[in-house]
Amino acid sequence: MYAEGGIVDLERLALSSGQARALDLDVRLEPIELGGQAYSPAGGGGEARLDVSRTSTGYALRLRFGTELTGPCVRCLEPAGTEIEIDAREVDQPPSRDEELRSPYVSDGNLDVERWANDALVLAFPAQPLCRPGCAGLCAVCGESLNDSDPEAHRHDQGGDPRMAKLRGLKLE
Ligand SMILES: [Zn+2]
Ligand SMILES: [Zn+2]
Repeated sequence: MYAEGGIVDLERLALSSGQARALDLDVRLEPIELGGQAYSPAGGGGEARLDVSRTSTGYALRLRFGTELTGPCVRCLEPAGTEIEIDAREVDQPPSRDEELRSPYVSDGNLDVERWANDALVLAFPAQPLCRPGCAGLCAVCGESLNDSDPEAHRHDQGGDPRMAKLRGLKLE
């Protein structure tokens, strides 16, 4: 195999300049920590497609995979599934001193595809994962999910914090 422990030995593909090779790899994906909560990728990882193209002085790389991460919605704390599609590219041209042309995931012809995959996942993950677009969140007075009840009908005219009632009134206008 060309991949072991999440590392792909690019030299072993023995590509000459202009040649390309597509590899289907299994990558392990780590849960993403956000605000003290964990968002876990389905199955702890899965298959990824790696395209390796040999250029005259190095490699052009493309990594594609999809997964769904599950963790609490930041507004209502219900389980939220966030689907992520990754399509990431890297180039590595070792003779170049230009940082843009060196990949942080390639060293001595070895591509750390697992680290790349996990970094790409973190970059693509939303800062505020939601259970649904525009989740209405929890009522600030009673803590009930406002997704289950009409926020306009959900009021606390008797009891509750009158300042909150006033705020709700403002929002509804
Ligand atoms: Zn929610
Ligand atoms: Zn309420």
